[in-house]
Amino acid sequence: MVRAEWVVIGDPGEGRVLDDGAVAVADGRIVQVGPAHEILDVCAGVPTTRLERHVLVPGLINTHAHLAMNMLRGSASDRNLADFLAVVMPLEAVSLTPDRVERATQAAAVELVRSGVTTSIDMYFMVDAGLRGAESVGLRLLTGPTLIDGGPTTSTWDQVLTAAGEWLDERPASGIWRPVLGPHGTYTVGPDQLAELAALINGRDCILQIHLSETEAENDVVLARHGGRPLDVLEDAGLLSQDTLLAHCVHLEASEVDRIARAGAAVAHCPVSNLKLASGVAPVRDLLEAGATVAFGTDGQASSDDLDLLHVMRVAALVHKGTASGAHPPDATALPARQALRMATLGGAEALGIEAHSGSIEAGKVADLTAVDLSSPWIEPVRDPVGSLAYSASRQDVAAVWVAGRPVVTSGKCVNVDERAVVQSLRRLGEEIQ
Ligand SMILES: [Zn+2]
Repeated sequence: MVRAEWVVIGDPGEGRVLDDGAVAVADGRIVQVGPAHEILDVCAGVPTTRLERHVLVPGLINTHAHLAMNMLRGSASDRNLADFLAVVMPLEAVSLTPDRVERATQAAAVELVRSGVTTSIDMYFMVDAGLRGAESVGLRLLTGPTLIDGGPTTSTWDQVLTAAGEWLDERPASGIWRPVLGPHGTYTVGPDQLAELAALINGRDCILQIHLSETEAENDVVLARHGGRPLDVLEDAGLLSQDTLLAHCVHLEASEVDRIARAGAAVAHCPVSNLKLASGVAPVRDLLEAGATVAFGTDGQASSDDLDLLHVMRVAALVHKGTASGAHPPDATALPARQALRMATLGGAEALGIEAHSGSIEAGKVADLTAVDLSSPWIEPVRDPVGSLAYSASRQDVAAVWVAGRPVVTSGKCVNVDERAVVQSLRRLGEEIQ
């Protein structure tokens, strides 16, 4: 059982905060939530973690990342997306091995859980190596084959497609876990190939994630090459649905905002990466107003340059206040703290189609929990724990994390791996890849 000074219960967007609350966990699931004195009456004698001046929130959910790109961190800063990719893609083509991807993903998983993240999606190569790296830390990783025409592989498209089908056959959706199929983008995977992927999915329970309209240049290239904008190409291929997760969506037309919302597709908003690459600011307020699901992503560490989802949450809450969007002028009431927390938790679960299992602290859900210490000089006094979390707390304040009830971070340190050894391995990766 976990007892905390503040517990955010139910839909985090409503921001109901229990003072001195408790969460009882059994077999990896939340069995009871309520005032501590009530839960203690029923759970007398159960081992309890007591967290004073901590807020307990649902585990954060990262909806866009390329985790093993930490091995390329710092290799292509201060460039726009096209110049960034021109550096990064050739490096990947000569550098990737299963061993390196596993070590890099392990370090990324440490970074994520230390930032309060319990579930992350991934879009990268050598999927099984990445899964091993994440599992060693205790992070839940939703992943699957990444497809890119001319990517860092000597395989032909047909070979990549066949391997993707075999991987999906071997790893069907199960409970909270869903496989992911990741065509990189409509400028790197053509319409015929996308149609082949639609045929491959053919009723499978599977997330389709793709980069979409990250820059104006991408829109122009796809329009010139295929006669339609990226969303047109995707929709024509039969790949725009409620299982579609669109990364970025920075440069959308108003009608595209509506089409995404109507299709039930979700958007992974990555403001830190979009700002660093000068891609622009996504029309998040318009997407939310249209009813689209919008969640947060870190993107890869070569462009973001870290996996701090609390930081992403704060940047989003700030940038959308200070930036005009469509018909919306700058507005200090835009993306308030509770909405930002919702996008980092339940919104992320909705984007991944796992909201029945995760994203909020409610009886019956998987016990994915994050405790943040609000007692530091850069946070106190706490008048509203959700506001403190959104506007004052940082990842160094993340004190404890549970994934399906199992502790993966306690007292601010990873439980399952030796962090110093993981960091040394990451440093060696940087030395190996030049
Ligand atoms: Zn990306």
